[in-house]
Amino acid sequence: MKIKKGDQVLIVKGKDKGKKGKVLKGFPKELKVLVEGINIKKRHRRPKKQGEKGQVVEIFLPLFISNLKLICPKCGKPSKVGYKISDKKKYRICKNCGEEI
Ligand SMILES: [Zn+2]
Repeated sequence: MKIKKGDQVLIVKGKDKGKKGKVLKGFPKELKVLVEGINIKKRHRRPKKQGEKGQVVEIFLPLFISNLKLICPKCGKPSKVGYKISDKKKYRICKNCGEEI
C-alpha cells in the first residue's frame, strides 16, 4: 500500500474532505486505513444494568486510500506516491519533490 501507519494524509473525498489526519492503522487487504479524528461515527451504547445511563461512544471508521492523499513530510504538500527500487529495496518517493518518504 502506498499509505502506511504514521503517515499524514489529506482527505480528498467524502464528508471529511479537506481535513488532515494521521494514519493509525492500515488494512492492506481492504485498501483502507484508519485516520485519527476522521470518519467518526457515534454509537449509542445501551446501559448494561438498570439505573445506568446509556453512553455515546465515538468510533473511527476506516477510509479507502483512494479518498486520501499523502502529505509529504519533506515538502509538506499533498503528493502522489511513486516507487523507486535500489539495492533490491523498494522505496516510496514523493512525486512532487522527488524525495524518499
Ligand atoms: Zn515531497
